[in-house]
Amino acid sequence: MENKEYQPVIGLEIHIELATASKMFCGCDAYHFNVEPNTHCCPVCLGLPGALPVPNKKAIEWTIRLGLALNCRILEESKFDRKNYFYPDLPKGYQISQYDQPFCVQGKVILKEGREIRIRRVHLEEDTGKLLHTEIGGKKCTLVDFNRSGIPLLEVVTEPDFQNSQEVDEFLKDLQRTVRYLGISDADMEKGSLRIEPNISIKTKSVKGKAQNDEELPLYKVEVKNINSFRFARKAIEYEIERQIEILQGGETPIQETRGWNETENKTVSQREKEEAHDYRYFPEPDIPPMNFTPEKIAEIKKQIPELPEKKEKRFIKEFKLSPYQVDLLIETKELADYYEEALKINGKIDGRKYSSPSEIANWLINRKVDIKTVSPEKLIKDLIASKEVTSVSEAEMSRIVDETLSENAQAAADYKKGKTAVLGFLIGQAVKKIGPQADRQEITRELIEKLK
Ligand code: ADP
Ligand code: MG
Ligand code: ZN
Repeated sequence: MENKEYQPVIGLEIHIELATASKMFCGCDAYHFNVEPNTHCCPVCLGLPGALPVPNKKAIEWTIRLGLALNCRILEESKFDRKNYFYPDLPKGYQISQYDQPFCVQGKVILKEGREIRIRRVHLEEDTGKLLHTEIGGKKCTLVDFNRSGIPLLEVVTEPDFQNSQEVDEFLKDLQRTVRYLGISDADMEKGSLRIEPNISIKTKSVKGKAQNDEELPLYKVEVKNINSFRFARKAIEYEIERQIEILQGGETPIQETRGWNETENKTVSQREKEEAHDYRYFPEPDIPPMNFTPEKIAEIKKQIPELPEKKEKRFIKEFKLSPYQVDLLIETKELADYYEEALKINGKIDGRKYSSPSEIANWLINRKVDIKTVSPEKLIKDLIASKEVTSVSEAEMSRIVDETLSENAQAAADYKKGKTAVLGFLIGQAVKKIGPQADRQEITRELIEKLK
């Protein structure tokens, strides 16, 4: 039963690092995992005086790709803005982001049970540098690495439409899969290329004695940071819901703040009271002119989008008569789904008589955990055919093998004749061993019964 008295309200802010070759506003190499610190930098991403930003066209197209995949409207005119704040990982003193004219707005996603999650916006910004807190010669210090500074970072903001942690979990996993299908990021939480910040509050339904409509939201919200796995996202949300309900039950209102997930203590801890958007003093980026997207340009970007998981799922079930379970596993990655369809095309072509059903091929692929990087679809189909082939043995040879089996297992043969028919399985097994795993069991059984009469 859902708790009717206290209804959790959850909205997500999700950052995704794009896998472009170069950074967002300069030509520096964007790859930054296990790279010597401060080697992928230039005057632009270090914020040196006079450096001019040039937007990465691919990063913009990829942002619109995801926006379209999330059913967003693409603004005809968009622009970049400066978000001003000070932090040592931000050399310019401002982050180039998008404020009131982001690339994509008003999208939506439907969860499995049919609930709709509205997407407020998808915009593009630049990542910051990375601070490393360490100790040198016994002295505590903080080092900064600017390799990450200026890497294209996409932000997805949802409306506060989630009601529990399971809905968030489903949404995030679907989003990760979609991003990977689009080929725009590895969306790996451990590497930080997918980062999520849930905002949580609790709506109290009966306190004021009047029904609240759905748009009425609590006047506070708590944002949780430092989450680096789907499991921690679930736990952090569940912890917050409980913590806030306890405060409300005590007759108080939780304060609006940013909290951090502490994975060793399994709880959230207060980090700072929340700043508001107006604290950042956004203003238009003067070095980058506003951009226009015509319907033709948007249609062109739409063409880059492959069949997405939800659609593929429905088609696989309908076209190949697979179970939802099989399909779920097959569409986990685009590579696996494509591989499967490739195998289906080859099916029946290698040996016209040996056609396997799509379900058989799916099971073969799933149950044997076939490594699709090393086993080609041709090899897969050949292996499947071979597994069904029987080793043919001449009549005389079969007779000799069964005779041999019976004389070597005289006791079992005698037992059978006394009515212990269960030993037949054992005798078949012994004969199979002599011929091989592909032996024709039917033929052996017939021969055995004949000789045991
Ligand atoms: P801010 O300006 O503080 O960033 P926004 O209104 O832009 O706040 O919302 C940021 C995120 O917080 C969005 O994902 C939104 O869905 C979510 N959010 C807004 N209000 C609430 C609320 N009362 N409870 C939970 N999440 C909320
Ligand atoms: Mg925010
Ligand atoms: Zn650079």
